[in-house]
Amino acid sequence: MNTVVMLTEDHPHGALVDPAQPLINIEDQGLTRGDGVFETMLAANRTVRKLEAHLNRLSNSARMMDLPAPDHEALRAAIELGLSSTETGPQTVVGEEHVVKIMISRGTVERGPHSWVTITAAPEKTLRQRAEGVKALTLPRGHDPAEDGAYPWLLTGAKTFSYALNMAVLRYVKKQGADEAIFVTDDRRILEGATSSVIVARREGDSKVLLTPEPNHGILPGTTQGAIFNAARANGWELGFGPLYPQDLYESDGVWLASSVRLLAPVTHLNGNPLTVDAALTEELLGYLARS
Ligand code: PLP
Repeated sequence: MNTVVMLTEDHPHGALVDPAQPLINIEDQGLTRGDGVFETMLAANRTVRKLEAHLNRLSNSARMMDLPAPDHEALRAAIELGLSSTETGPQTVVGEEHVVKIMISRGTVERGPHSWVTITAAPEKTLRQRAEGVKALTLPRGHDPAEDGAYPWLLTGAKTFSYALNMAVLRYVKKQGADEAIFVTDDRRILEGATSSVIVARREGDSKVLLTPEPNHGILPGTTQGAIFNAARANGWELGFGPLYPQDLYESDGVWLASSVRLLAPVTHLNGNPLTVDAALTEELLGYLARS
């Protein structure tokens, strides 16, 4: 059973509600128009990892959508309430795990925006991806999102409820016998996964280089990618941000899809071609994440 905490006028820091009851108005614009912003986070031992980074990205998404600035203190309290009330989660490498989501919807025209927090178990599929890795296909994003930055209504870099496209591409790859999609531009520059950032490792002599597409170029700046890169830099890795093409992935010493709940899923195949999978590198990067 999910744990749900609603933030309301009567309970600005959140109150537990019964998820079996109707909680969302049928005219809620989050529902009818995908008009809202959200964050998906991982709690380890009942503490949300990288909470500050998630709250900052949520505020940025809300600002881009002209939604009221989220009250970080109230959201922290709501998350704490939910995590202290929820059922025991599975034990994994990072400890007891829960998935925590903050949702902010435009609400109904009459009542306006509202927020809630849900706590659930990590989906089985996500845990499996960590252990077994994923087969990915590169698929066109349709246009280059780096060109969208000048148009604020395109909401580039905001994490909005409108994930129908991201879910559609995952259904598409499944029908082709793969697990994950990596979006590319028309000239095949790597962008991001459907719900993840792409990270590439390369050994160059004695040094190790970690690469990712430029996070500010029309893709969602990943908090997991950010955390791994900060820790890797502190441990002597060189970092690179810039154009990556499928050929770079084929010639790499490791490719991963990174996101908050999945942590890191090694990409074992790209477009049907096997990629180098280096268990020691995965361990090393996971170790950075576990400690961050
Ligand atoms: N890119 C997209 C499109 C995503 O949906 C996500 C996460 O859901 C990410 C990247 C990774 O973000 P984070 O590491 O902050 O979870």
